[in-house]
Amino acid sequence: MSTEDETTTPTNFIRNIIQADLDSAKHAAVQTRFPPEPNGYLHIGHAKSICLNFGIARDFNGKCNLRFDDTNPEKEEEEYVHAIINDVKWLGFEWSEEHYASDYFQQLYDYAVVLIKQGKAYVDSLSAEQIREYRGTLTKTGIDSPDRNRSIEENLELFAAMRAGKFEDGKYLLRAKIDMASPNINMRDPALYRIKRAHHQRTGDDWPIYPMYDYTHCISDAIENITHSLCTLEFEDHRPLYDWVLDEIKTPCHPQQIEFARLQLKYTITSKRKLNQLVTDNHVVGWDDPRMPTISGLRRRGYTPASIRDFCNRIGVTKKDSFIEVAVLENSIREDLNEHAVRMMAVLKPLKVTIENYPEGQVEELTAKNHPQKEEMGTRNISFSKTIYIERDDFLEDAPKKFFRLSVGREVRLRYAYYITCTGFVKDENGDVIELICTYDPATKGGSSPDGRKVKGTIHWVSADHAIDATVNLYDRLFTHPNPAACDDFTEHLNPESLTVLNNCKLEAALANASTDIHYQFERVGYFVKDNKTKNLSFNRTVTLRDTWAKLDKQNQ
Ligand code: ATP
Ligand code: MG
Repeated sequence: MSTEDETTTPTNFIRNIIQADLDSAKHAAVQTRFPPEPNGYLHIGHAKSICLNFGIARDFNGKCNLRFDDTNPEKEEEEYVHAIINDVKWLGFEWSEEHYASDYFQQLYDYAVVLIKQGKAYVDSLSAEQIREYRGTLTKTGIDSPDRNRSIEENLELFAAMRAGKFEDGKYLLRAKIDMASPNINMRDPALYRIKRAHHQRTGDDWPIYPMYDYTHCISDAIENITHSLCTLEFEDHRPLYDWVLDEIKTPCHPQQIEFARLQLKYTITSKRKLNQLVTDNHVVGWDDPRMPTISGLRRRGYTPASIRDFCNRIGVTKKDSFIEVAVLENSIREDLNEHAVRMMAVLKPLKVTIENYPEGQVEELTAKNHPQKEEMGTRNISFSKTIYIERDDFLEDAPKKFFRLSVGREVRLRYAYYITCTGFVKDENGDVIELICTYDPATKGGSSPDGRKVKGTIHWVSADHAIDATVNLYDRLFTHPNPAACDDFTEHLNPESLTVLNNCKLEAALANASTDIHYQFERVGYFVKDNKTKNLSFNRTVTLRDTWAKLDKQNQ
């Protein structure tokens, strides 16, 4: 990890609490954890939690564990475990210990027996529907289940039979015995264990019962000696239950749960369940589709780990829910790539140009800088010849006065090469311009004129004989609605133009050796990275050079 972002991580209310706990010697060292459920790939929201938990461990000389919260066997898969491990590493973090909640199944079971023996848990035979009915509402207190006063002996026997696989799914629940009249519905005798005959990816068929999230999470934290258990705001109302369980079973360690606001990013979705739907319904081509807000999608799109960490620093950590503009994320990657991307020339929508007065068969090797400000990034040769390609948009038949590119009679600078002047064009039978005829001024080699003649426009180009062919994927926002998750059907708001595939793009020859871990700026066009999945050479647009949406938004105001 770069030392740059270590020194610039801004403080926040959680870091302040931790600093105070260390100052007062409440804790000798801080221990955090990142606890994903392996039911999907990590997304940009998880990056916020990862940077927070691992960043704290790093900056306070503490430790951070990676713990898989794998208590829902039907939704979880080994593939997701691998993807999560890969993504956390790629973001630049290392965990001190790797754990699985399923490793604690026996301990969790034993603690449940302790609760039963203390008269703090009971086996309930109400149906799911009855439980909902008995639970009451915010304005109506709950009603005790008839099983609430079952004897301890009977509870122990039934729970052992549940564990032994004697009952079908849903027949019984183990519930905490707390308070059916509590104003906090989470405290109205919440479920601790359910019967579910499901194969678990790690424990196989050992367990016909599985512990509930709230019960598992606090005990797992306590087992791992977590000092500060950081979670998102929706768990605020669960904190009394977190504390209740640990108080009742009297664990030596009682972590402090602290909640913070989830990351909500405009025009996208940060819920694994909904992202899963996009994948299974083929709205995207996989979890790592470059339009996905997943870490793997962002990586394939060309985001760097440093840019994502920088984004997480910029958005900060608070208790206030808010929506973050896409531009904040895009600015993080733009700044990183502006610094580090290798400059190249690529023509996405080619228009052939013949330079009439350039000698037939002649090829010149011109020198181009790999970065305009960074000498240390070196130079490369690019071939110039009689036939080149320029961007179709850089020519207009009827050009307005302020169009500083090509039109008949107008002169432009070819980047690193010569001044050329358009003298004519060729159209096909449909009336489309298919070729430009130009002349060049041999005295302007390198891009300046000895007579001091100025041209306003500089355009990029590639030599027709030397260019390589590639496909270029242009990505845009996946949704047209700023908050698709709040819509009845978020799939109705998919952006039909989220992907434009351009075939037959003409690229500078050096790009034949592109690798997926080099980031490029195609001059005047945007930032690109080689796609790591396709066989044919293709590039993904990471981000445009400027925020084109900001301009559009302004026009629409
Ligand atoms: P999802 O709805 O995407 O499944 P989750 O919260 O259920 O999200 P987990 O795998 O349980 O996903 O999350 C692991 C950790 O990441 C949790 O501590 C959770 O609070 C945190 N996290 C998940 N989404 C966000 C988010 N949008 N912003 C910040 N933290 C998040
Ligand atoms: Mg979850």
